Amino acid sequence: MSILKLYFKSNLLIRILLALILGAVGGLIIGNSPSVMAVLAPLGEIFVRLLKMIVVPVIASTLIVGASSITPAQLGRIGAKTLIYYTITSIFAIIIGLGIGALIKPGSGLNLIADAAAEGKVAQAPTVIQILLDIIPTNPIGAISGGQVLPMIFFCLAFGIALAFGRDSHDEQIKKSSDTVYYFVDGVSQAMFKIVGWVMQYAPIGVFALIFGVFAKNGAVAFGSLASVTVSVYLGLLLQVVLVYCVICAMFKLSPMIFLNKVRPALITAFVTRSSGATLPVSIQTAQSMGVPKSVYSFALPVGSTMNMDGTTVYLGVCAIFIANAVGMPLTVDQMITVTLTTVLGAIGTAGVPGAGAIMLLMVLESIGLPVEADSVVAIAYGMILGIDAILDMGRTSMNVVGDIAGTAVVAKQEKTLDEAVWKS
Ligand code: ASP
Repeated sequence: MSILKLYFKSNLLIRILLALILGAVGGLIIGNSPSVMAVLAPLGEIFVRLLKMIVVPVIASTLIVGASSITPAQLGRIGAKTLIYYTITSIFAIIIGLGIGALIKPGSGLNLIADAAAEGKVAQAPTVIQILLDIIPTNPIGAISGGQVLPMIFFCLAFGIALAFGRDSHDEQIKKSSDTVYYFVDGVSQAMFKIVGWVMQYAPIGVFALIFGVFAKNGAVAFGSLASVTVSVYLGLLLQVVLVYCVICAMFKLSPMIFLNKVRPALITAFVTRSSGATLPVSIQTAQSMGVPKSVYSFALPVGSTMNMDGTTVYLGVCAIFIANAVGMPLTVDQMITVTLTTVLGAIGTAGVPGAGAIMLLMVLESIGLPVEADSVVAIAYGMILGIDAILDMGRTSMNVVGDIAGTAVVAKQEKTLDEAVWKS
């Protein structure tokens, strides 16, 4: 009983951080032991499942309430500013990824031989038109129940805006019924956040189990023979935080230190779940703790979790360079420009789920004439990266989420709707 008391009374973030460190160290030391993993794997799975359980109702309810609380003109302005921010930070991310890759030159000197076998994977890049068409759901309830984020956003925004008109109506009956729907959805969203709080109480156990598993399986390689890739990716991510997010925060007169302090719960959740989508409920809470209003985060975060992937972009730049170097064909300037375009546009169609970036890497390689085909050297180099994907995914997903949240703070500040009292501690 007293252990439980101690558990619930101690600071949640410290508990999660401790779990993270213990899990990483334990995983590295104990390694991939089947008996230990048999116990830990389900404990980690519980955490991811609990988060996923709340994602759809959280997004749907906050989006509807958010969209129906502001005028369509405001929504258009916030949407445009958010998308401009996302595009600018993604361009910086790819410049940083390619820059770090060019500087550290991971993979050079690997001299892969051509005849070893490797599994081939084929990237299926949907066309831009198809990606855009798919945003419109043919069956909104199906999109919501299937957890398809972009179609769900499209429908919930339309529904929320329609509700806003209804609440503003001169017809008493329409106003009354619209208000009823609004309060109902608001109630759903409040209940969901209560559940988010409960799920976070379980986070330390889930974090320990998930991190243990990743380090047990990939730790040795990620910090051994592939250390140059790991270091390049993480250095790129660090630069993205310092040179892009911190500078943008400072430009908008928001303390970077307070931002970094407040963003930790979402950062850690993204780190362990490797999914921006699953982290959404925590990202929303984190944005709230920064004083960002619902009108901004309800749109920016769900959209960002699928469309804005700065961490993945850094990773793609570094890994494209690694693979090109490893197969003895360093990237030309033209190829670097192609990588830039493919990553910035490709991110739009990529889901915020674990490993999605590795699929995008296939597309990037294809675009620069290095397709991953069975038995090719490119496939071997790609396979090496896949081997440590979990370790790289942890970092890039954290940055994907941090980038989205920085965007909400900046857009809210620009819109003069940020509660700045919370930035003054
Ligand atoms: N796991 C990342 C995310 O959810 C996507 C990726 O694999 O790069 O944001």
